[in-house]
Amino acid sequence: MKRPKIVDIRATTVAVPLEAPLRTSNGAHWGRFIRTVVEVETDTGLIGLGEMGGGGESAELAFGGLKSYLVGHDPFDLEALRFKICNPTASLYNNRTQLHAAIEFACLDIIGKFLNLPVYDLLGGKLRDEVGFASYLFFRHPNSQTGLGEIKTADQLVAEAKALKAKHGFTSHKLKSGVFAPNYELEAYRALAAAFPDDSLRFDPNAAYSVEEAIRFGKAIEDLNNDYYEDPTWGLNGMRRVRESVRIPTATNTVVVNHEQLAANILNPAVDVILLDTTFWGGIRSCMKAANTCETFQLGIAVHSSGELGIQLATMLHLGAALPNLVFTADAHYHHLQDDIIVGGLKRYVNGKIAVPMGPGLGIDLDRDKLVQYAEYYREVGGYPYDRDPSRPDWFSLVPNTRWADPSA
Ligand SMILES: [Mg+2]
Repeated sequence: MKRPKIVDIRATTVAVPLEAPLRTSNGAHWGRFIRTVVEVETDTGLIGLGEMGGGGESAELAFGGLKSYLVGHDPFDLEALRFKICNPTASLYNNRTQLHAAIEFACLDIIGKFLNLPVYDLLGGKLRDEVGFASYLFFRHPNSQTGLGEIKTADQLVAEAKALKAKHGFTSHKLKSGVFAPNYELEAYRALAAAFPDDSLRFDPNAAYSVEEAIRFGKAIEDLNNDYYEDPTWGLNGMRRVRESVRIPTATNTVVVNHEQLAANILNPAVDVILLDTTFWGGIRSCMKAANTCETFQLGIAVHSSGELGIQLATMLHLGAALPNLVFTADAHYHHLQDDIIVGGLKRYVNGKIAVPMGPGLGIDLDRDKLVQYAEYYREVGGYPYDRDPSRPDWFSLVPNTRWADPSA
């Protein structure tokens, strides 16, 4: 049987509206996600789908610029692809980890479609039919059009979490924090814990706290049903100091995002739970390799979300399906979206879980009308700076931060 060869690659940046702008310690997602959809075309007519965060002309050009690397490449040759695009010494000059991830998703999609197998079967087979997710709660600005969706107070946060639980069935709740002063957020987090005594929790201030603040805050939540304490402070050494003083497992998606850092963390432990992101780690297979290492050294893992539409979500579902050591729920921003660019629209949560796609490849199809619609919307509204907050134009975050947002503003 003739194996497919890559003949072309296309990248299309889209903007898809969120229910409301999501606030973080660094700034905000300004009411929309900007994502770049990648289509890798082969001489057999099979097209593989990939997705990358951010976008615009620079992302579209960056993917186009890799055409000379990809034309004629056999999508099965995934290790060769890795070295073509991400050779570790060449990467000092041009770090293409995230570009590689999107192309790897597309190649796995092509391989699966060619063999008529779902991607999870290329990863060792599925161990579960659905992947559980946490509620992923954010402090939010109101939607600029409707004025709805603001979350600033503990009462608003608990009300939103209750509504999400009723709608989607979540049994674990993640608070993205680091926006307001620690004591204000402590009250909000403890209110969540009180509202859901049978559910588990996780707190993630995106490394905004000093080591000393992270220890003080960690001690103040030790009695709660925490899954883990995610990136309370910056850096492996900071996380190690927190871990020495707080009796909650630490977790990160910031300072262990490649195999070198994972090795360093094993030799001198700072983080207990490694949050695997199919984009940050450079692909689904890199996450599988990291999970294997974590299994050997008995580190925890979970599936991280750096923002996703349905293509990226599919990569998280196939990864989640194939990971033997996945005991925590995954994160997804997905339920904050108003729409999706895959056929069938937004995927549904049932009992806090999303079904793993069973079709060949990633098991999802691109809705071309939606792609056109949201590419047009992107041209209309443009991108946004993730590290700025539209309500605080002169502010930028420090690490550690002390310049908190004012909840009464
Ligand atoms: Mg995080």
